[in-house]
Amino acid sequence: MSQKILNSLQRIPAKCIGNQENVTLDSVSIDSRSLQNGPHTVFFALIGVHSDAHFYIKDLIDNGVQNFVVTHIPDDCKENANFYVVENTLTALQQFAANYRSLFDFPIIGLTGSNGKTIVKEWLNFLLSPDYNVIRSPKSYNSQIGVPLSVIAINEKHNLGIFEAGISTRSEMDKLEEIIKPTIGILTNIGTAHDEGFASIAEKITEKLKLFEHAQVLIYNKNESIDTFINPEIKAFSWSLNDKSASVFVSKKSILDKTILNIQFGQDHFEIKIPFQDEASVENAISCLMVLLYFEYDAITIQNRMELLYPVEMRLKVKNGINNCSIIDDSYSSDFQSLKIALDFLESQKQYKKKTVILSDIFQSGLATEALYAKVSELIISNKIDRVIGIGQTISAFKNKFTNCITFENTAAFVTDFENLDFGNETILIKGARSFQFEEIVYLLEEKTHETVLEINLNAISYNLNFFKSKLKPKVKIMVMVKAFGYGNGGLEIAKLLEYHKVDYLGVAFADEGISLKNGGIQVPIMVLNPENTSFSAIIQHQLEPEIYCLKGLYAFLKIAKQKNLEHFPIHIKFDTGMHRLGFEGNTIDELIDALKGNTTVQIKSILSHMATSDDLEHMDFAHAQIALFEKLSSKLMSELQIKPLRHILNTSGISNFPDSQYDMVRLGIGLYGVSNDAEEQKQLENVGTLKSVISQIRTIAAGESVGYGRRFVAEKPTKIATIPIGYADGISRGWGNGLGFVMIKGAKAYIVGSICMDMLMVDVTGIECKEGDSILIFGENPTVSFIAEKLNTIPYEILTSISQRVKRVFYR
Ligand SMILES: *Cc1c(COP(=O)(O)O)cnc(C)c1O
Repeated sequence: MSQKILNSLQRIPAKCIGNQENVTLDSVSIDSRSLQNGPHTVFFALIGVHSDAHFYIKDLIDNGVQNFVVTHIPDDCKENANFYVVENTLTALQQFAANYRSLFDFPIIGLTGSNGKTIVKEWLNFLLSPDYNVIRSPKSYNSQIGVPLSVIAINEKHNLGIFEAGISTRSEMDKLEEIIKPTIGILTNIGTAHDEGFASIAEKITEKLKLFEHAQVLIYNKNESIDTFINPEIKAFSWSLNDKSASVFVSKKSILDKTILNIQFGQDHFEIKIPFQDEASVENAISCLMVLLYFEYDAITIQNRMELLYPVEMRLKVKNGINNCSIIDDSYSSDFQSLKIALDFLESQKQYKKKTVILSDIFQSGLATEALYAKVSELIISNKIDRVIGIGQTISAFKNKFTNCITFENTAAFVTDFENLDFGNETILIKGARSFQFEEIVYLLEEKTHETVLEINLNAISYNLNFFKSKLKPKVKIMVMVKAFGYGNGGLEIAKLLEYHKVDYLGVAFADEGISLKNGGIQVPIMVLNPENTSFSAIIQHQLEPEIYCLKGLYAFLKIAKQKNLEHFPIHIKFDTGMHRLGFEGNTIDELIDALKGNTTVQIKSILSHMATSDDLEHMDFAHAQIALFEKLSSKLMSELQIKPLRHILNTSGISNFPDSQYDMVRLGIGLYGVSNDAEEQKQLENVGTLKSVISQIRTIAAGESVGYGRRFVAEKPTKIATIPIGYADGISRGWGNGLGFVMIKGAKAYIVGSICMDMLMVDVTGIECKEGDSILIFGENPTVSFIAEKLNTIPYEILTSISQRVKRVFYR
């Protein structure tokens, strides 16, 4: 593989600079934070809308990386590494991947379509891996960046590839085709997803079909609007549920929770059973069936394997574990590529310093077993994993490749010994192939709570952070407010993610919030907005940075600082410029200056103020007056004390509305959590929190009967009522009851009837198909928190921060 990487690298059109000896290269990276970067890595410095990896090259060189693909060489790096200078590093990555792909010539299945790509890919991997060494895209890596990274993982031992390609607009597919060059094409369902990027359905179909330009065969659901666009040189291998002229005709009938597919393929005629009923799963299963038929599998093998298809879990989930553990659940797959991804995720999410990996045998790496476990061990070492628990016969045989490793022959043996493994205060990655049934391990380690959860999408948080970062001028720093438990979304988990994204500061309201972040291992500086004098000692002890807003507080802090012999302890000075909440008023500035002049116990890290009307353009004049006063007061303090601290005044809506007043730093709050008070901006943010629960009980009541306390709902006709275990003690405002509010059940609105109780509420589900145990949604993508806030005459901040701590938070990406 190494020779091939170097060869593919040397074939991209680039100017090569540097005289480092060529070590063997065995991996490609675009993530400067990965612990897996090292001397054998070639690093592509991608430039995004919001970020530029060139910035981290110096650090990477210090960590041993010696080969870089760049658009320019950062100052004083030149002598220390090899640089391939190109015009565009993303294009170079794609060319590199295409070069690399061209060095292999085994069958490659390329998949595209609006839905189902990842599921079909995972199922095909499951169905074909008994006979092939499969390489496939990890997770849903199907983008302009994901595809090259997937293809680069091919090695000599593989003999079948399965890669997915996703596009959202015109002219993207050509590039992906170059890289994947599929020999077998699958077009999954063409839905309406991503339609905004295309002028018409025809354009969307034509664009997607470009993936198959050089394929030998195309598998698709027969449909006239597609037929006309297919290149006649490609063999069309179509299926249909209603058109007998398709190559394969399928009829279906459902029994219990299964579907029987009756298959007619030329002269052949047979039945198979699959363990699903929903339409999407049936279509996806037929796509897989088509590949098996194309590969000439016999009916019995097809039946035996397809009967075992399973639901695919595509997300990495972070859950609260027992004994202060946090667990990352990736219990559905185990291959080398996805292990690398999961370990990067572990690093970004580790909430406890100690890191444990529970790992099953690894399948389908394409490497000889011995070499594979040597590589796994390298990966484990570079990620600084404290303990490895291996489960399976093969990994047990290679136990000696790992340090601090215990192994078990199978999951049952692990379960028997569970009590002796002393899990506590650690982050545990659970990563295993499906056949190992690691869900049993997840079950043992997971903290048990009731069924209501607030799901937090960590990717959406990263996305929103980058969105606001892109509005900042170069060098402007960012403080993120994580007060009130990250606006109700989870304090430590979000702080960890923000630390990973290298934000400059975190802000909390009270000292105890900051202390719990510090105890959780957060190292980013933390400013405390509202330090009480009684908490000063604790603030100093935990290296938190107080905001000082009045003379009394200043004197108290200086006194303690002096007693403790502090030198240059970081503090922040806040001016009141019109909010009239906290801050030094203008007329105290001389005394403030006197108190600080020549004082070396403290150091002013920043000067700040807070705006009262940054979200309300009607009060523009007031806002500008606040900024002008801030400018005046802060300038005076700086010149009198001869200091140059950071200055900052903007919150989220300030960032959007007052781009000229960013000063040295901004303080992002609600925007991170996906909420904006500007309708246009709201569309550009991603939803972060989704509050979900389940149906506990369903009953039908007759006309004239009532529901709940005080009989405030009386049915006018027979009415189906569902009870949901979430109430005002969970943070659902009582005002949302009695017919104003609703929950979503399978896309339908179910209005809340009667008064909301402490722990429960009841909804009208007449006409909605649902059953006990079904999932329901209170807020998320639809309805949004902002929508509910408006109806309740309040603001989204209040809705988010009211969700009580007894509601379990589940983090995922
Ligand atoms: C909460 C807070 C912010 C963040 O405000 P958002 O409107 O949520 O962006 C900024 N600065 C101070 C002083 C705050 O209290």
